[in-house]
Amino acid sequence: MPKEIVHTPILILGAGPTGLGAAKRLEECIEMKGMKTNFIVVDANKSAGGLASTDTTNEGFLFDVGGHVIFSHYLYFDQCVTQALPREEVRSSSTSTSWVLKQLKGLAKTSSGILREVA
Ligand SMILES: Cc1cc2nc3c(=O)[nH]c(=O)nc-3n(C[C@H](O)[C@H](O)[C@H](O)COP(=O)(O)OP(=O)(O)OC[C@H]3O[C@@H](n4cnc5c(N)ncnc54)[C@H](O)[C@@H]3O)c2cc1C
Repeated sequence: MPKEIVHTPILILGAGPTGLGAAKRLEECIEMKGMKTNFIVVDANKSAGGLASTDTTNEGFLFDVGGHVIFSHYLYFDQCVTQALPREEVRSSSTSTSWVLKQLKGLAKTSSGILREVA
């Protein structure tokens, strides 16, 4: 399949949190300041999110690739998250747990900051 050549004044490389954040801010600036420009976000992966995305197994289990807890106390960032995830039950859901393999001896549960060895 022939590759399409696209010309763009601004290219955002990567659709992880940084790239998506840059795109959102740029879009706001274009709207607020009436800037006459546009941009394209590209990613090597098929879906957006980078390390902050979630894989789904065939059985429907969800695995966060990386980030799954938001520690922000920065108002603008918090507003962006609220905008992206308007349903409160999605944002404040605390039903997920994470497991870390600990020196191949056992598993330590870290969801609430408590480390516990499992026999
Ligand atoms: C195990 C783990 C747990 C974490 N837990 C948390 C957490 O609980 N809370 C938290 O706030 N943060 C957490 N983080 C950190 C958080 O995931 C990162 O800070 C965040 O994902 C960084 O975003 P980014 O957009 O800079 O980079 P990335 O998420 O790495 O995104 C980069 C994107 O660029 C794309 N890309 C790279 N090179 C190219 C290329 N040449 N061409 C096209 N696309 C390209 C990649 O495919 C990717 O989609 C965790 C990270 C890890 C690894």
